[in-house]
This record gives sequence, C-alpha cells and structure tokens, in this order.
Amino acid sequence: MPTPPSSTDSPRGLAIAEAAAAVIPGGVNSSTRFIGAPYSFVAADGAYLTDADGRRYLDYHAAFGAILLGHNAPVVNDAIRAALDGVDLTGIGVTEAEVRLAQRIVEVIPSAESMIATMSGSEATAQAIRLARAVTDRDLIIKFQGGFHGWHDAVARNVISAPDRAYGRDPLSKGILDQAVDATLIAEFNDLESVEALFDAHRDRIAAVILEPIPHNVGALVPTTEFVEGLRKLTEQQGSLLIFDEVITGFRHALGGYQQVIGVTPDLTTFGKGMANGFPAGGVAGRRELMEHFNGRTGDVLMAGTFNGNPLGCAAALATIDYLAGHPEFYTRTHALGERMRTGLRGILAYLDIEATVVGFGGVFAVYFLAGPALGYRDLMRNDDAAYVAFHRGMTDRGFLMLPMSLKRNHISGSHTEEEVDRTLEAARDVLATLAR
Ligand code: PLP
Repeated sequence: MPTPPSSTDSPRGLAIAEAAAAVIPGGVNSSTRFIGAPYSFVAADGAYLTDADGRRYLDYHAAFGAILLGHNAPVVNDAIRAALDGVDLTGIGVTEAEVRLAQRIVEVIPSAESMIATMSGSEATAQAIRLARAVTDRDLIIKFQGGFHGWHDAVARNVISAPDRAYGRDPLSKGILDQAVDATLIAEFNDLESVEALFDAHRDRIAAVILEPIPHNVGALVPTTEFVEGLRKLTEQQGSLLIFDEVITGFRHALGGYQQVIGVTPDLTTFGKGMANGFPAGGVAGRRELMEHFNGRTGDVLMAGTFNGNPLGCAAALATIDYLAGHPEFYTRTHALGERMRTGLRGILAYLDIEATVVGFGGVFAVYFLAGPALGYRDLMRNDDAAYVAFHRGMTDRGFLMLPMSLKRNHISGSHTEEEVDRTLEAARDVLATLAR
C-alpha cells in the first residue's frame, strides 16, 4: 500500500521536484498540479500510474478527465505510432485525418454541422466566445458560478460574490483588464431566474450563455432538464447563443455528449480533454451558418493556430472516438461502475453517520460533505472543505489517486474494473471512519 511520498521514502520524486522548483515557477506547469508532496509519475498503464519511487496508484484523477479509455490505451497509441510515420506538420491545406475527425464529430454530436480543431479546451472556449460576440455584435457573456472554461480572460470571473471557496480568488488571476472581467456576468446554476435577471438588466447586450452542462469543475451539479430547456428557450428569445462547454462531459457521458443525454441542442459546443484520451486536441462545433464566420476566405472571425489539427492530436481523437462509436458497452460499463461507486459510498457514509451527499453522473463521482441536495454553487458554500480534502488526501495516501483539493471530481475510465471499485470502497470505508471520529 503506498504511503504519501515524503523526503525519506521518495528520493527520486524529491530530486525531480527539487530540480523542477529551480527552473519552473512553483515546480509545476499548471497552477493546480502541486498537491503537497513530491509527486512525479514515470509510468502509466490502464487505470494505474506509477511514481518515480515505484508506488502504484489507481488513478481517479485521470489528468483532470483527459484520460477516458485508460492510460496508454493500445488503440490510441497504435494510431499515434502510425501517424508518426506520416506527414508531421505542414501549416498549409488540410490533411485527411482532419477531415475524418470533423466528419466524425458532425456524425455523432447533435449540434455539430461543422467543426474547427484546436489544441486545447481553453482555445476552444475562447474561439466560441469570440464567434458569439462577432455574430451577435454584442459584448457580454453569461457564465455560471463555479463553472470553469479555461485560463483566458473572457472566462476569468467565477463567482457572483466573494468569498469564493472553490478557487480562492476572483477573478481567477491578476493581470486581466477590468473591461474583460466586467464583460463576464455570473449566474447561479440550475436557477433560470438568475439568468433572466441578467438578460433584463442588460438588454440586447448578451452575446452568449456558456455552461458546463454538468459543472464538473465543482464536482457534479446535475442540471434539471427544465433549467437547460429554459436556457435554450431564453437564449433563442433574446437572440443570443447557447454554448455547451463539453470539454469534460463530451464523449465521457455519451458519444453525443451531455446534449444527447438531456436532449437539448446548443448553438455551439466546445471539446477537449477526453476527446483524444490524453493527447492535445480540442475543437468548436456548431451550426453551419455560425461556423462559417471562421471561413478564412468569406468569414470575419480569425481562427488561427500553428498546431491546430496536428496529426498526433487528430489521430488520437479519431482513434478514441472510433473506439467509443464501436464499443457502446463503454458507456454501460462506466455508468454501471459509477453507480456501484456512488451506491457504495452512500452506504458507507450512512453507516458512519456522516452528513454528506454523493453526486455524479456516468463514471464521474464526488462526495460533498454537506446535507443535500446540491443543485447550485450556493449549496456548495455549505461543503466542509476540510473534510473533502482530508477524504481525497486519505485515499491518495492509500494509493487511490483523488486530487486532494476541495470539490475536485473523480473519474472512472474504460480501464477500471468492478474489483477495483470494490477495493476503492474498502479503502474509503477506512478513510471515512477516521473522519467520522
Ligand atoms: N472547459 C472545461 C469544462 C474545463 O474543465 C477545462 C479545463 O479544465 C477547460 C475548458 C480548459 O481546457 P484546457 O485545460 O485544455 O485548456
């Protein structure tokens, strides 16, 4: 059983972490990657990660959800190897792989009539928001408390009012123009009236409403159908666009994304993460007449990127989506494992008499330490952050990698098994028992 990496038992991890701290600010390449110990992984295989000192972790972090089929999925790696023998990068014209990827997306995603490829989820949401502003000739956008859409300025505002317990600061970064922050309005998830109030207060100025259909960046707030249908109707009535940010939910919850599950079709959809099972790829898809604004010859919205549609990202995305299309049991399996985990956790929490709410959808699960239900961010203000972090820390220390930060969700990939879920539940019983005391 792993113990937390420490200076005494993690010589290699520590050496890597120390070397990193000397040349990389904070020793990591993304603000949320430092998790309090010298973690450095050297091998990945299916549902497991192995660190530099030989500890093996059952991975529920899944690179923030970018790992969907499992680490180093053979079907994806084979496609990457084949792509390595083809053309590397030309910066001109289009490759067959890019065409096949766009065709696939158009085939499986209800809102997609055409698609542009990006390298990441942030680039996709930035492009979608720029497009929405261009086609509506309006300046404001609405997003929801707790929703995360990437690192760029248009989505840096996060909460209606401080204190923001999810990310600790609002906007998420300094160095952003007040105008950019002020152009982002924040509403409460699952609360249509809060959106209507913003439309009333800012007549004819709202270009788009952007949402994670399930805000997984704060665990899993599952939307009511009424709320999402209400957003669809409202944005249509008000002449603004509805953008589903399916960077996490896309391909994970259903081949057609969460829009297929809930039966509501947005104007634009953004993708990233699991789409290419750990390789860099993303995209924006949507109605043709909107997407045509990206047309370099006839449109008016700049869409550029040296690495967009790069052969490795395209090959990985195609292999991942083709696999999912050919294996619908991926969804029945991950959903059943997710349900097994959630049911098991509910039983343990009830037995231990811990006030908590187990949430999730499909293979995603999280435990809020609050009395339910949890419908919006407002409810999450009651979450016991210390208990949340302690639970994830305890699990990670036992070899079940769950990011020890409040509100972070966990992911079951196509490589997890029933036996592993049951083993996770056994460990959860021990960890939660220590919290119950
Ligand atoms: N949208 C959502 C819902 C996300 O969770 C993220 C990343 O966490 C992004 C967009 C940004 O994607 P990327 O980190 O690939 O830029």
